[in-house]
Amino acid sequence: MNRSTSEHLYQEALQHIVGGVNSPSRSFKAVGGGAPVFMKRARGAHFWDVDDNRYIDYLAAYGPIITGHAHPHITAAITAAAENGILYGTPTELEIKLAQMLKAAIPSMDKVRFVNSGTEAVMTTIRVARAYTKRSKIIKFAGCYHGHSDLVLVAAGSGPSTLGIPDSAGVPASIAQEVITVPFNDLDSLRAALEHWGEDVAAVMVEPIVGNFGMVMPKPGFLEGLCKLTRANGSLVIYDEVITAFRFHYGSTQTYSGLDHHEAITPDLTALGKIIGGGLPIGAYGGRKHVMEQVAPLGPAYQAGTMAGNPASISAGIACLEVLAADGVYDEMERLAVRLTAGLQESAGRHGIPLTINRIRGAFSTHFCDHPITNYEEAQDTDGELFASFFRHMLDRGVNLAPSKYEAWFLTTAHTDADIDATLAAAEDSFRAMAAEK
Ligand code: PMP
Repeated sequence: MNRSTSEHLYQEALQHIVGGVNSPSRSFKAVGGGAPVFMKRARGAHFWDVDDNRYIDYLAAYGPIITGHAHPHITAAITAAAENGILYGTPTELEIKLAQMLKAAIPSMDKVRFVNSGTEAVMTTIRVARAYTKRSKIIKFAGCYHGHSDLVLVAAGSGPSTLGIPDSAGVPASIAQEVITVPFNDLDSLRAALEHWGEDVAAVMVEPIVGNFGMVMPKPGFLEGLCKLTRANGSLVIYDEVITAFRFHYGSTQTYSGLDHHEAITPDLTALGKIIGGGLPIGAYGGRKHVMEQVAPLGPAYQAGTMAGNPASISAGIACLEVLAADGVYDEMERLAVRLTAGLQESAGRHGIPLTINRIRGAFSTHFCDHPITNYEEAQDTDGELFASFFRHMLDRGVNLAPSKYEAWFLTTAHTDADIDATLAAAEDSFRAMAAEK
C-alpha cells in the first residue's frame, strides 16, 4: 500500500507541530515508529487517506464516533447550529435539552454542568469532591486513564501506604503526594489504602468498566465493595465514564444490565465526554444535587468555560443520542462484535498466535497473551511486538486500529457484515504472515 503522501506530510508536520501530532496517542511510537496515516475523508465505517487508500475504521476517534463518520443526522444538526451562530456566551435552550437527556439516562445525575473535554470533566469532579468533603487526597486505580490534568497523571506507588510518583514531567511531587494508586479489581488494596489514609481521602475515582487498558469488567462485587468502603470512609465515589457512558447501552454503568445491584453501584459524581458530543469537543459532569451545589455560582468551587455548552457541540450531542436511542442499535453493534471476535479468535488459533479478547457488547480489546486480563499488570504483561506487527499488517490490508496494545476496537452503527467479512479476511492474512515471521 503506497502511503508516500502521509510520509511526506509527516515530515512537514514535524517541522511545525511538536512530534508531528496533536495528541501523543496518534503517533506510531508504540508500534515501531514512522509516519502515522494522514486521513482526509471519512464516511460511515470508512476512512480515506491522503494517498486515496481506504480503511475500515475501528478507532472511532477513540470512541466518540459511535454512529460512524459524517452521520447525516449529526451533520444536519451541526450545520443548523453553525447557521445560527456558533458561540454565544449566553445560556441556550439546547443545553437544557441535552442536560435532560443525560439526567434521564443516568439517574444519579441530579445536576449537570457542560465543559469541553473529558479531562476538564474529571478534573472538576475532583475539585468538587474536595470542596464537598474538605479533604484533599484521591485514590485511583492503576492503568485507568482520566485525562491529562496534573492530579491524575500519577502512577502507582509500591503499595497501599505509598503515595504516587508523577507519571509526567511537570507534575510537582507535592501534587503526586495527593494521589494513591491501587490495582483495579482488588478490594483488599483499596481497603488497606482507605484504612491508611482515612480522613484525608476526598474521593475514589474509577473507570467502573475500564476502557484504557483493554475493555475490563469489574469482578462481581468489586463496584459494590468500592462504593461501600468509600462511603463508610466519608469519601465520594467518582465514576469516570468518559468512554463507557452510552457505549454498551443507552445509559451508564450504574444502569448497565450486565451488572447487578444498581443501587449499590451508584456513584456520587460522574464524568462524561466523547459520545455525548457526537464527535465535537465536549465533557460534562454531574451528580447529587447537594454535591453539585458546591459549584459556582451556587457554591465555592470554581469552574468556568468560554466554549462550554456551545451550540454546535450540544446540537451534535443531542443528535448522536437521538440516533442511539433507536431500538436495536446496541444489539446490532454487539451482533457484529460477536461475529468479529469469534472470527479473530479462531483465526489467531489456527496460526498459533496467543490472543485473549475482552468483549463488552460492541467494544472489545485484543491482547496478545494466554492469560485473562482483569487488571493493568496483566494488560502490561502481553506481547507488544506481536501487537505492533498485527497493527501494521492490518493497516496494510486496509483496517485502521488504534496504535496501542491497550486500546479498544469500537463497532459503530455504520459497520456492516461486509466490513466484518473484509476485516476477518485481513486478519487471517495478517496472522498467517505473523506466524511465518516467527
Ligand atoms: N477519562 C477517560 C476514561 C478517557 O478515556 C479519556 C480520554 N481517552 C479522558 C478521561 C480524557 O478525555 P479527553 O481526551 O476528552 O480530555
